[in-house]
Amino acid sequence: MDTKNTVRVRFAPSPTGHLHVGGARTALFNWLFARHHGGTFILRIEDTDTGRSTEEYIEAIVEGMRWLKLDWDEGPYRQTDRFDIYRNYVERLLLEGKAYRCYCSPEELEQRRQEALAQGKPPKYDGRCRNLAEPIPDKPCAVRFKMPQEGATIVNDLIKGPIEFENNVLEDLIILRSDGAPTYNFVVVVDDIDMKITHIIRGDDHINNTPKQIHIYKAFGWEPPQFAHLPMILGADKARLSKRHGATSVMAYKDMGYLPDALVNYLVRLGWSCGDQEVFTREELIQYFSMENVGKSAAVFNPEKLLWLNSQYIMKEEARGLAETAIPFLIKEGIISEGRHIDMEWLSKAVNTLKERSRTLVELVSSLKYYILEYVEIDPKAKDKFLKPENLKYLSELNVILSGLSDFTAAELEKVFHAFADEREIKLGAIAQPVRVAVTGGTASPGLFEVLEIVGKDKVIKRLSKVIGG
Ligand code: GLU
Repeated sequence: MDTKNTVRVRFAPSPTGHLHVGGARTALFNWLFARHHGGTFILRIEDTDTGRSTEEYIEAIVEGMRWLKLDWDEGPYRQTDRFDIYRNYVERLLLEGKAYRCYCSPEELEQRRQEALAQGKPPKYDGRCRNLAEPIPDKPCAVRFKMPQEGATIVNDLIKGPIEFENNVLEDLIILRSDGAPTYNFVVVVDDIDMKITHIIRGDDHINNTPKQIHIYKAFGWEPPQFAHLPMILGADKARLSKRHGATSVMAYKDMGYLPDALVNYLVRLGWSCGDQEVFTREELIQYFSMENVGKSAAVFNPEKLLWLNSQYIMKEEARGLAETAIPFLIKEGIISEGRHIDMEWLSKAVNTLKERSRTLVELVSSLKYYILEYVEIDPKAKDKFLKPENLKYLSELNVILSGLSDFTAAELEKVFHAFADEREIKLGAIAQPVRVAVTGGTASPGLFEVLEIVGKDKVIKRLSKVIGG
């Protein structure tokens, strides 16, 4: 079958929190599957739980998706806009005798649940209202789905293979609450059919919902889509990834200076592989992605590996683009003020010297400080070691020479420094390291002469004068 334009998948987050790493990976696998097959990727906000869903989280999810560049073709649809559609389908099941009104109050249900537990029985709804002859007028009621109790249901999962569920463990689930709100397992089926979803790719925390949903498809006479349940993401201690393990929200990674492509590359490898390759362009991911290469076992989140990948992406990113991405960080750190003009060509040169030594944008920006600010803070240990009186004597002499230079390029500076050291019969390091400390504030930096050229004569002289003077 030609799958072009026929594949339709969706990412269906509940807006009860920020977009987290697990959700983003689900979104990414759906997006890649759609893009690989030339299909359609839909964003659907599952906000039926009006008590826990917020506008702020919807925005945060959309923002996270945009940052990761996971563009969608349809939506965002919102389930709260579709309540009429769901109620119509509830009516249909009621009319066909496939659902029934349940008048049991929450207190009664709780009491029976406790009794069942006390007797060692499964605390499943006892079906009391299943066969009521007549509706009870004016009494609040929920609507329950008549779950088949005989036999078994097989979920043919594209990742996990066939999984069998005994039907008698399933209870008659509530599809419409007494307050008129339809419930997750019902609306998800209605939407997936209505939106012509062909493949449901989601976390395997939903696997136990799947047989229930399959029964609802069958009750309507619909063919269920194909299912692919992604194994969970775990922390290093093998517990499900949570805040305890560090940042889990996608936007927290943005703030920590990660690049979206690096995070995408990291997330895809949490469960999918393609030989030994670790670093992929988006085009490669789209080309190679297939469900066959998604692993069956849970993946462990490894922050060091993500950091390593990020450093790889920073290294190969173009300096100009990185410089632009760095601007908000520079503003946030107070290194430049908002609206201040900054020469982007100059900044790109500075960024270029730091690309290979910065694992995150935060690290990059922290080093950019010594290019941009007038003066730098000097690390006290470096000061004690390299700015002793005998070093300062040389620095004063050197400063006079530098002040007279009209050519302040790296090549010229290198010559000047060498001549200075030769004349005094000292090692180059005896002046290079003190200058580095005075100009950058620390003992590690890119090549000194390049740094001096980019920092520029004015600031170099000012900083040297400051350490010499006090
Ligand atoms: N709204 C569900 C969740 O956020 C996803 C449901 C689904 O993908 O079927 O977990």
